[in-house]
Amino acid sequence: MEPEFHCLRCGQCCRHEGEVRLVDGEATAIAESLGLEPADFAEQFTRLREDRLGLSLTDHPDGSCIFLEGTPPSCRIQEAKPRQCREFPHSWRYENWVEICAAAQKPEL
Ligand code: SF4
Ligand code: SF4
Repeated sequence: MEPEFHCLRCGQCCRHEGEVRLVDGEATAIAESLGLEPADFAEQFTRLREDRLGLSLTDHPDGSCIFLEGTPPSCRIQEAKPRQCREFPHSWRYENWVEICAAAQKPEL
């Protein structure tokens, strides 16, 4: 059985390079949460995925997710964030996630 995982909201996974993919109506849901028309949201906050089969979120110049904002940084679209974010690090994870994830550094994990 997997140990319980308590995200500490350190935001480090949101700084990791790579795509945050949007699937199954997520673009529409995020647009709605921001009060934007889907086309305006797509124009301002997304780009074509590398496989050209859909959209992913854009980045800040430092490579962190465009929706990582504030001090301390937090997700601006917390209630509507994509499945990829909600399922990290359970359903998917990148290779060195344990090295950057504050919760993974806790002894009980
Ligand atoms: S959408 Fe939110 S949770 Fe997902 S990577 Fe961006 S800031 Fe992090
Ligand atoms: S790196 Fe780990 S602890 Fe930090 S926000 Fe992501 S999942 Fe949560």
